[in-house]
Amino acid sequence: MILENLVIPFQINNKIKGTIVRLSSVASQIINASHPKNIKSIFADSISVTASIGSRMKNDGVFSLQAYSEGIIKTIFVDLNNNSSMRGYISVNDFENIENLPFERLISNGTLALNIKEGKFSKNYQGLVEIKGKSIKEAIDTYFNSSEQAKSFFKLFNIFNLKKYEPSSNHIAGGIKLELMPEINNLNNSESSNEDWKTMLMFLETMNSEEFLSIKKTSKQILLNLFGQYEIKIFDEINLNNNCQCSNERVLNTLKSMDQKEIKFMFNDKKSIEVVCEFCKTKRVYSEQDLI
Ligand SMILES: [Zn+2]
Repeated sequence: MILENLVIPFQINNKIKGTIVRLSSVASQIINASHPKNIKSIFADSISVTASIGSRMKNDGVFSLQAYSEGIIKTIFVDLNNNSSMRGYISVNDFENIENLPFERLISNGTLALNIKEGKFSKNYQGLVEIKGKSIKEAIDTYFNSSEQAKSFFKLFNIFNLKKYEPSSNHIAGGIKLELMPEINNLNNSESSNEDWKTMLMFLETMNSEEFLSIKKTSKQILLNLFGQYEIKIFDEINLNNNCQCSNERVLNTLKSMDQKEIKFMFNDKKSIEVVCEFCKTKRVYSEQDLI
């Protein structure tokens, strides 16, 4: 049995489409920080949502999820590009006993932004939703169900909610997204579709975190177990990675674009400065000489 880092799109009865996401090393490398479990759980869910929605970007497109709040969590940023590379960071205010705080304190007055950047010849798109409720899942369901035609549902899982934290025998994060295809939902005779939709949601609700995150089953087996009695089409899997796009050259270019005053202030008699990539945590050291 192996740990997966993938997204698989699927379709049921030609009426419902969906994706399953399961992440191990890709998620753990992004989350790798000393935050308490409740913060990591929110970050993990944000990563799963990003993988689920952003996995089919074309050309030089990038999908990103951003959350801003006035609570303990200041910012969450996760993106996924057309090379199936994911990266992300979270910034958190200092506070005592964060691990005991509920979701509403971690994210308060929050906004969730979903962005699609489709490269230089296409329009960019941004959708915003206020973060209400008790989870990233609730915010994202509100976002997708805000128009009457749309019907979509996310179920998210992550290891930080399990009693036992055992990354070697579990996936870190993942989820299943179901969506009633809009053209079906609009038909007058949509009663049977509605019945199917309700049944699928019921099946999905039977899935628990231990089962979903376990390495005993592949993602395909999970889908077949859940929906195998229906006509299910399972498409090619998309393997995700987390190669950061940062480079020495890019960092240098950014530094060189700053004005002389700022550079002087940054060095302030120091021989060198250290720049840490906020995504992959790579450290790079520069002297004032390097910036000339
Ligand atoms: Zn980096």
